[in-house]
Amino acid sequence: MENERKFEWSTGWGQEREQLPGKKIVITTVIFDLDDTLYDEVDYCRSGFSAVARFLHNAMRLPVWMSQEKIHETFWAHFQKGNRSQTFNAAMDELGLDYDEEVIASLVRLYREHHPKISLPRESRDLLEKLEKRYKLALLTDGFLPAQQYKVEALEISGYFAHILYTENLGRSYWKPHTKGFEMLLKKIHECPENCVYIGDNAQKDFIAPNKLGMSTIQLVRPNRIHQEAPGNPLAAPGTIIASLNQLPAALKRL
Ligand SMILES: [Mg+2]
Repeated sequence: MENERKFEWSTGWGQEREQLPGKKIVITTVIFDLDDTLYDEVDYCRSGFSAVARFLHNAMRLPVWMSQEKIHETFWAHFQKGNRSQTFNAAMDELGLDYDEEVIASLVRLYREHHPKISLPRESRDLLEKLEKRYKLALLTDGFLPAQQYKVEALEISGYFAHILYTENLGRSYWKPHTKGFEMLLKKIHECPENCVYIGDNAQKDFIAPNKLGMSTIQLVRPNRIHQEAPGNPLAAPGTIIASLNQLPAALKRL
């Protein structure tokens, strides 16, 4: 716990905002990112690989030794090695399975359209229940539909949020770091950016738009996170970094 507390620090960006004369920040609204913020995204990936492995095992004539588990393990091994864009191709090559681009496209579609077996960590549920008593909560998430909607459904979180904005509904060019999704969300929930804070994990894209609009920003650095890249420039940097959602209530009070 002590280590966790030591891990929280301000990057300096938020402090600059705080020091603007006459600009006392009053946070009324907490906006969350979804993947690797409220749950570990790798759990979704595992669930997707499992669905695709089940499909292949049922649909193809496979040698006896090639169990559903073996296919799943092969997907997972390539994913773990960092192959995030050609995972199915590489795994099927290794397993000696025939495929073409059409097969791969249908596996990707199956992955994105599967109903995931994921659940909200206790820590996240406790946090949302605590914060909803004090703040307005909202969710803004990038990613393919219906995948993101199925995640929200499986995690059973929609009831916590005044509004959920799926940037995919606006078009892929409006995924983060575009500001449009954030602006539309603010309009929906009738809030000014300076009263809002965005909590995300990805320092490459999550904080550019909220920083630009004048929101506070907090990065959660989960141990199992997928995106570990540092921010590309100071405008992409979060105001505060925390190592656990448990640190969020205190971090919000310090904004
Ligand atoms: Mg994320």
